[in-house]
Amino acid sequence: MSSASCIFCKIIKGDIPSFKLFESDKVFAFLDIQPLSRGHALVIPKFHGEKLIDIPDEDLVEILPLVKKIAKAFGAQDFNVLQNNGRIANQAVDHVHFHMIPKPNEKDGLTLGWPARATDMEKLKILHEEIKAKM
Ligand code: 5GP
Ligand code: ZN
Repeated sequence: MSSASCIFCKIIKGDIPSFKLFESDKVFAFLDIQPLSRGHALVIPKFHGEKLIDIPDEDLVEILPLVKKIAKAFGAQDFNVLQNNGRIANQAVDHVHFHMIPKPNEKDGLTLGWPARATDMEKLKILHEEIKAKM
């Protein structure tokens, strides 16, 4: 599945140029055009879908091994793997993509807030049961 208006579908087709790292029937990887650090790469399923939950399982199988291959090829010791879903979660391009972002030092690469909140075991237990029942 592909979308005529989608920038990443155009990259897959070759209608928009990219620095391609790898391609198979199911996946495509290329360098990010506005890198957060040197080596920042994107791995995408060829199947067009906006959010992770829109992508069939079989189109996701090759994704993480490919992220791993690129991280190893780049020699990234420290790195973040990021996949944003939805505008307030920082998604700008509406075609699922996984970032591999090397973190060579404090300044370069991904910086993120981690606003951990206190909870208690009773609340976690209720949540656990609720989610498990829906899986
Ligand atoms: P998001 O915020 O949606 O998770 O990240 C989108 C990423 O796609 C950004 O890091 C941005 O630099 C990258 N990007 C957007 N347009 C293009 C493009 O035309 N070519 C490439 N190589 N990367 C792009
Ligand atoms: Zn697309």
